[in-house]
Amino acid sequence: MPGFELFGDAERNSVKDVLDNGVLMRYGFDGMRNGHWKAKELERELQNTFKTNYVQLVSSGTAAVSVALASAGVGAGDEVIMPTFTFVASFEAIMMLGAIPILVDIDSTLTLDPKAVEKAITPKTKAVMVVQMCGSMGNMDVLKSICDTHNLVFVEDACQAIGGTYNGKPLGSIADVGCFSFDFVKTITCGEGGAVVTNNSAYYLHADHYSDHGHDHVGNDRGAESHPFLGYNFRISELHAAVGLAQVKRLPEFLDIQRRNFDIIRAELSQIPEVEFRTVPEGGVESCAFLNFFLPDLETARNVSKAFKSNSIDACFHYYDNNWHYIRKWDHLKNLKSLFPITEEVKNGLKYLETTTFKQSDNYIARNLSCLIKLSWTEDEVKERAKKMAELIKVNL
Ligand SMILES: *Cc1c(COP(=O)(O)O)cnc(C)c1O
Repeated sequence: MPGFELFGDAERNSVKDVLDNGVLMRYGFDGMRNGHWKAKELERELQNTFKTNYVQLVSSGTAAVSVALASAGVGAGDEVIMPTFTFVASFEAIMMLGAIPILVDIDSTLTLDPKAVEKAITPKTKAVMVVQMCGSMGNMDVLKSICDTHNLVFVEDACQAIGGTYNGKPLGSIADVGCFSFDFVKTITCGEGGAVVTNNSAYYLHADHYSDHGHDHVGNDRGAESHPFLGYNFRISELHAAVGLAQVKRLPEFLDIQRRNFDIIRAELSQIPEVEFRTVPEGGVESCAFLNFFLPDLETARNVSKAFKSNSIDACFHYYDNNWHYIRKWDHLKNLKSLFPITEEVKNGLKYLETTTFKQSDNYIARNLSCLIKLSWTEDEVKERAKKMAELIKVNL
């Protein structure tokens, strides 16, 4: 997945452009910049890549989720349904707005189970956020129709699925509003960065203003801009955008390598009857950022994970025992440890976490291994790796 593996002259020259004219800020300074508008250019590239009307770059993927939700009208006391398997950013971004994350079970797609989503809807529900984890996706048609029926905002976190598609549409562009991350380990990196994408002009305008203190970006006198509403600083810098601009132009190359490496490992593991792959919904094409598979039980998954680690098969994650990505280890959320005051409303809204067991999610995550697909591997290295992985699985069955 990580685009940084293939940094080269394109990235270096793009950053040099910015340093040569000295304007590191994405807005204003028109006279100094010699025509360099890296953030604007990257937004245009991303519009083409993700086939979407509007793109607003922001400072991170986490910021993208907060900005997307706020732009779509999610605020204090609203409930946002999200999966138990994701990155901690998902609930942070919701809680930043004073909203309440409602975690629900995943299914074999490794994201939202539509039945669990329906069960969690209350009069306070405002949005459903699917997280396209590890390069694949949820059952988008079903989730969209639930959102339509209940008049909910449908949000798509596609931070880990750059380049995946559903019925021919890029992941991230399917729901009402989508979020991307370009942090250091994502398929395209800016160092730090993110994007909100949407076809909704009102959401876009909100995102544009909200991510820059509420400034309206009208005219070229920064001090004369008005503030239609309060905002915050979630801006990306020209330096970060410059790296992303060079990277996004290489995305087709990255995705080809990723798919080649993924296919080699998948073909090898598919010869083991006990290995089951995650469900990819009909019409879905994975980005191939990760290869995800299920082993028969928790013990086998733990043993295989251990065997991989001690045999230099790096970057294969057993998320059941991982602190970052699964509810089981999110004690800071369960215990409401926060530097910010948490309102009574949010505290009450999170009480369900004390009593809810997520057995269905446990069943999938306990048995799942998720192997990062690197871009820097040669074909021979991948083949050797695939054989070694298959052997280690077989001896541990
Ligand atoms: C990386 C990631 C984020 C957060 O992105 P940052 O740019 O690191 O803030 C959010 N959601 C998911 C699923 C991610 O993988």
